[in-house]
Amino acid sequence: MAASGAGAAPFGRGLETRCPARAVTTRDNCVRLSARAIGDCVSKDVELQCRCGQVHGWLRDVSPSRVNRPLCYCDDCQAFLHYLGRADLLDEHGGTDVVQVAPSSVTFDHGEECIVAVRLTSKGMHRWYATCCKTPLGNTLTPAVPFIGMPLEVLRGAPTASDRDQTFGKVRAAIMGKFAVGGPPKGSTGFPIGMIAHVARLLLGWKLGGRAWPHPFFRKGTAAPIYPVTILEAGEREALRAKCGPNPTER
Ligand SMILES: [Zn+2]
Ligand SMILES: [Zn+2]
Repeated sequence: MAASGAGAAPFGRGLETRCPARAVTTRDNCVRLSARAIGDCVSKDVELQCRCGQVHGWLRDVSPSRVNRPLCYCDDCQAFLHYLGRADLLDEHGGTDVVQVAPSSVTFDHGEECIVAVRLTSKGMHRWYATCCKTPLGNTLTPAVPFIGMPLEVLRGAPTASDRDQTFGKVRAAIMGKFAVGGPPKGSTGFPIGMIAHVARLLLGWKLGGRAWPHPFFRKGTAAPIYPVTILEAGEREALRAKCGPNPTER
């Protein structure tokens, strides 16, 4: 396993912190800034790793204001984890906690031969995962919509709930609650206007700021996937749907 960078982490393995505003690497400089500035000032590099350790990489330069964190109950996210045999990663209502980040902030430096994607339909999202241990790595639309939705499982550098809240901010909104198993959790069926405005701001900033490329899953120029992609047949898809909310007919 590649561990470069981990030794330099000042605040614990897998979590590096820097202050881009002051171009220095100590927390002391950040704490001299106003409380409001600190949230934007402290950015972190988070170690990425699949469960077995074969696939490794880094998520660079994230802070709560630079990512989005939805909790998605949609049946596609549920179907994907059932496809992987990793329904253990869903919460009790079938929800997936996802951190959406800029493509150029993600790099993989080991185990790339294990990276593949599945699409539930020919127009569906690319859902990337590690074949070695079926760890979900990230969800993408086409590279024209420049974001990667990373499930918590791969964000090994932020292993606890408090690490995640500190690094990515708390969940901004629960969405697609109509597909939640056992009925929609509170607040999951409304229109998340605040989160949508935040995402629009992020996407525009990433496009204009050159953070759409390089992309860890697509080639620049052709926008073709770098790794193998499988599209499910209708029968396979329906078999997975039977396990998904709101009313699973099969577990
Ligand atoms: Zn693995
Ligand atoms: Zn979803």
